[in-house]
Amino acid sequence: MPTYLIHYSSEIGLKGNNRRDFINQLRRNIRRQHPAVTSVEHLMGRLVAESPQEEAFDDVFGVAWWAEAQALPADIAAIREAAVALGKAQAAEGKTFAIRARRADKRFPLNSQEIGREIGAAVVEATGMGVNLTAPDVEIFVEIAPGTAFVFSERHPGPQGFPVGVSGKLFGLYSGGIDSVLAAYLMARRGARITLVHFHVFPQAEEAHRQKVGQLAAMLGRYIPGLKVHYLPYRPYHARASSLPRKFQPYRVVTFRRFMARAAATLAQREGGKAVFTGDSLGQVASQTLENMLAVNDALAGFPIFRPLLAWDKQEIITWGERLGFYDLAKQPYKDGCALMAKKPATRAHLDRVQEMEARLNIPALLEETLARDEVMVYGP
Ligand code: ATP
Ligand code: MG
Repeated sequence: MPTYLIHYSSEIGLKGNNRRDFINQLRRNIRRQHPAVTSVEHLMGRLVAESPQEEAFDDVFGVAWWAEAQALPADIAAIREAAVALGKAQAAEGKTFAIRARRADKRFPLNSQEIGREIGAAVVEATGMGVNLTAPDVEIFVEIAPGTAFVFSERHPGPQGFPVGVSGKLFGLYSGGIDSVLAAYLMARRGARITLVHFHVFPQAEEAHRQKVGQLAAMLGRYIPGLKVHYLPYRPYHARASSLPRKFQPYRVVTFRRFMARAAATLAQREGGKAVFTGDSLGQVASQTLENMLAVNDALAGFPIFRPLLAWDKQEIITWGERLGFYDLAKQPYKDGCALMAKKPATRAHLDRVQEMEARLNIPALLEETLARDEVMVYGP
């Protein structure tokens, strides 16, 4: 049965008293996200998992890197034999190699340097490859834990961060655009439990679920076990706002933003969420001025709202979105509420005008009507 060596992020390693809890959450998440895994043990600063099938732990937050490894008795002859076999399998004319040894169990008779020298000499002899410690073609890793040695030659990067579930619960306003997708990914990567709230323009949530909004939620669900999305209808707000006098039209975007934040905060308060977050980035579009963001904060009367991308450039957001595989879908056109609104939104919200508009809209009644039509879907393992 393949054995996997999983190293957690160095940030988890720095947690004093909480470290146990973080590691146990990581173990639970590994098993939930990879149900074929039969065991995950903690062994001196690393996790050792077993699974009858091929696994890739690049979707579990808190993982720094992982490798499929041979688990052997901590015995230099056995290690030498495994390392030589790995070297032979990859050897070719002109290739170089390095042994990367790490001795976590200091009782092992040889130190890291000595292991490197001894195993390196055996690989040179068996393969004819030269040693190159700075830029080798082949790396062979040896880790000595109590009673067990791990030998492997390929390390795969993990997503870093903290395991989902160690940092409290947050409610994200989620549009299906790259900004809010990345915001959710990043907050979950800091260990937050995430629930998303999406406003859709359709008669039924099912339609949004079938389009990119649901597809991207499913992609996020790979990283965020049990990801829940509340689908709320935009129609009730739209119907009332359209009937207001023209002087209010430029305020529809900021008023709707306030409305969305209120809905998310209400759901958060009902379900134990500690704060709301959005994908806003300062100045990115006309509606994301400082004044407009502060007008949204004002609507929440002190309930916290976070904006993890506030200081990010659009190009940086796109680069991350591409690297994570979200961008192609996220950039697809999608019929959302904002498209139905004023072409020229106010860039500076005048709060008295906004409040006058909200009084006419009867926000509490509108909120009740909207939340009564809440539909919830769950994504991921
Ligand atoms: P995104 O890429 O996330 O769509 P954007 O650059 O298109 O952002 P806006 O449309 O101004 O910017 O939206 C700003 C933020 O408001 C979004 O990141 C999201 O948090 C929230 N938001 C916008 N539309 C919706 C929606 N239909 N449902 C829920 N939240 C939304
Ligand atoms: Mg958008």
